[in-house]
Amino acid sequence: MTRPVYVHDLDALAGQARAIRAALPRPVELLYAVKANPDPGVLRTLAPIVDGFEAASRGELRRLAEVLPGRAPAAYAGPGKTDTDLTAALAAGVRRIHVESPTELARLGALATAAGRSAQVLLRVNLPVDAPGASLVMGGGPSPFGMDPADAVACARRPPAGIDVRGIHAHLASGLDAPLAATVAAAVVDWAVAEVDAAEVDVGGGMTVDYTDPAARFDWEGYGRALANVVDRHPGVRLRIEPGRSVTAHCGAYLTEVIDVKRSYGEWFVVVAGGTHHLRTPAAKGHSQPFTVHPRRAAGGPRTDGGPVTVVGQLCTPKDVLSRSATAGPIGVGDVLAFSMAGAYAWNISHRDFLLHEPPHFRTGDLREVAAEWAARPFGT
Ligand SMILES: *Cc1c(COP(=O)(O)O)cnc(C)c1O
Repeated sequence: MTRPVYVHDLDALAGQARAIRAALPRPVELLYAVKANPDPGVLRTLAPIVDGFEAASRGELRRLAEVLPGRAPAAYAGPGKTDTDLTAALAAGVRRIHVESPTELARLGALATAAGRSAQVLLRVNLPVDAPGASLVMGGGPSPFGMDPADAVACARRPPAGIDVRGIHAHLASGLDAPLAATVAAAVVDWAVAEVDAAEVDVGGGMTVDYTDPAARFDWEGYGRALANVVDRHPGVRLRIEPGRSVTAHCGAYLTEVIDVKRSYGEWFVVVAGGTHHLRTPAAKGHSQPFTVHPRRAAGGPRTDGGPVTVVGQLCTPKDVLSRSATAGPIGVGDVLAFSMAGAYAWNISHRDFLLHEPPHFRTGDLREVAAEWAARPFGT
């Protein structure tokens, strides 16, 4: 039995990243959201092409420092930053810290002041954006992410000591096609300039990836043209984007082999080595991961009849489903299945390395006692 293998095509990744860069007007800065895939080879490949990296945890800061020493991360973001996180971001020389709440801003100001410096920040705003064509509103509802517009305006007008507010950050939705993403970008920049006279605006990521069509790509040319209009309207503003999934999704694949095929009450199941603990994307997105079948040479074992199949892994849970397909054709024991589009939010969110956070501690005790003990310690220690 061969162990499942992740394959990253770094040449394809470089090609994709260069195409994105070429489609964007030059003043627009392209950051890569490390969260999508922090693989060292991926980071090294992207380093000469992108303008910087957005980290969202101390683990990601450490990874960037290891893989790209001497290159300060462009941004540090994410909800629930501890004082230790903020101190690490300041020490790493992160160029911009994206702040999620007035309380976080106050803590960062105190830390920066204590360190005798000032922190350059973007305020993350949860702004309602109308997309009339799609009769859709993005942002503007209750959310753990970002500040309400009025709070962001108040923070920008009266920042605490130690804080230099450079502008606004927004990441309102994911799965946006190019027209929608452009609508969001224009609305966020217009608001940021009008309300807080922002010098910089980061309009986030979330560019769509179509898992039903591995050949499809986000329309970077169309998006780039729309951003060029935004830049023309606000020539003094530094505009930035921070995509993740749309950069790396297509460059990774998860390969495994078929252990068993079986019929259950009239339906075919294909059981493969590994599963959603290796490739969480289909469980996280609730989709069928696209795959191709590479028949085992000289295999004489049982095969499905070529009709619909459910491909499952080795976990003892009915949720361990990688894909359902009506078009895969006959699949036999020993065949190699190659799941494509596994270059983003795949192994790295498979419950082991999501965001590269440290694992929890393990200890025994009474829930209430441990919670009380924890709650009795000073916050942030
Ligand atoms: C996850 C995330 C991104 C990247 O999103 P993609 O959908 O992978 O492009 C960018 N910015 C923020 C704040 C995020 O949380």
